[in-house]
Amino acid sequence: MTTREGGCLCGQVRYTLKSEPVVTLLCHCTHCQRLSGSVFSTNVGVPEAAYEQRGETKVFVDKGDSGQPVWRHFCPNCGSQILSKLGSASGLVVIKAGTLDDLSGLKPAMELYTDHSAAWVGPVAGARRFAQAAN
Ligand SMILES: [Zn+2]
Repeated sequence: MTTREGGCLCGQVRYTLKSEPVVTLLCHCTHCQRLSGSVFSTNVGVPEAAYEQRGETKVFVDKGDSGQPVWRHFCPNCGSQILSKLGSASGLVVIKAGTLDDLSGLKPAMELYTDHSAAWVGPVAGARRFAQAAN
């Protein structure tokens, strides 16, 4: 079984993914832009049962387009965004891919909210593009 390790910038929060991602995607939505300080986020979804965390995260309760809550977990010490859990996708943990120790073998299969994509960000080759959410 393949496992992946990751964690925040200061090292207070560490985690293990005990399964391969079920989805890898870019999100260009305005919440991801603001929260990341970048112009998109790169996300890796794994089943909640395959996620193991050491160290406590702090949670900001956001609201998704679905109207359902989005629980955004970050390191209370260094502020790194670690993951989100979505009211609209229970059982799934969405990891911020930049917190992984090793990105090898990961490639986004889709891009969401491309309506909000910065004009100078080109499309990812082979990724399906959705103007809004992928429904
Ligand atoms: Zn930290």
